[in-house]
Amino acid sequence: ALTEADHIWMDGELVPWQDARIHVLSHGLHYGTGVFEGVRAYSTSDGPALFRLDEHLDRLFRSARMLRMALPRGKAELRAATLELVRANGHRSCYVRHLAHLGYGSMGVDPTGAEVQMSISSWEWGAYLGEAAEQGIRLMTSSWRRNDPTVVPTAAKATGPYLNSALAKLEAREAGFDEAVLLSTDGHVSECSGENIFIRRGDVLFTPPSSAGALEGITQDAVSTLAADLGFAVRRENLLRSDLYAADEMFLCGTAAEVTPVRSVDNREIGAPGPMTGKIRDAFSAAVSGEDERYRRWLTFVG
Ligand code: PMP
Repeated sequence: ALTEADHIWMDGELVPWQDARIHVLSHGLHYGTGVFEGVRAYSTSDGPALFRLDEHLDRLFRSARMLRMALPRGKAELRAATLELVRANGHRSCYVRHLAHLGYGSMGVDPTGAEVQMSISSWEWGAYLGEAAEQGIRLMTSSWRRNDPTVVPTAAKATGPYLNSALAKLEAREAGFDEAVLLSTDGHVSECSGENIFIRRGDVLFTPPSSAGALEGITQDAVSTLAADLGFAVRRENLLRSDLYAADEMFLCGTAAEVTPVRSVDNREIGAPGPMTGKIRDAFSAAVSGEDERYRRWLTFVG
């Protein structure tokens, strides 16, 4: 269940949560013509701070460019609106969802004439993959392949292509697993329904490249930096399904899921969260909470 907040920002103004409505003939609702972002704000000793807000907004604009969608608001306005919303909703910590979608005005597939509408919502969101994630989650390889980069721009965080994630997630949950891992059309490991993947083999961390259809994750980038600063080698390389089965450790990462250990893949045991996963989780929580000075550059304080 969603925890309601007081306000949602829509096209330039804060409206009460219940009044944040759109028309049923919105183009984006019918054809998935939208781009979005998910950012977390964390509680710090200096109040709430958004983690890597600039990088998320940059990716929103890159996604929009890939869809030929002209966003009607600039980055500075969206940044200010995000801070205003988190402040108005009085969150200590929260998840923030930026969405730009094609609205009312055109009912064919051709998006010409449909206006771009923008919204920013925030709510308090705990562990995305459940509290049980502490012990490590159970993954299943999906029967659905990941969206292919020759079919849709997989580097865009666009709404329509998330049908792929929703199908994979539902299939995994119905089969009794926590989350789905998707392979690319040519059989390389891509990502999970809403997270990037890391495995440890020996002293090296591996994560799939975006050419395997994975989103260029901002948490993936943060984890790569944290791991390198901890002295670990990180390689962005194609992985096979069997590389997951043979992993010494495995974890997922994403804005919602943060750093979540994986206990098994297709019932092949990897085991309880390992030492590298523990170090990365600790480093991540020190970074997002502002406790580690080295990563304060990643925080935007709500003020
Ligand atoms: N892959 C997918 C499919 C996602 O939805 C997400 C969440 N945005 C990620 C990866 C992780 O990306 P990020 O770390 O930027 O949240």
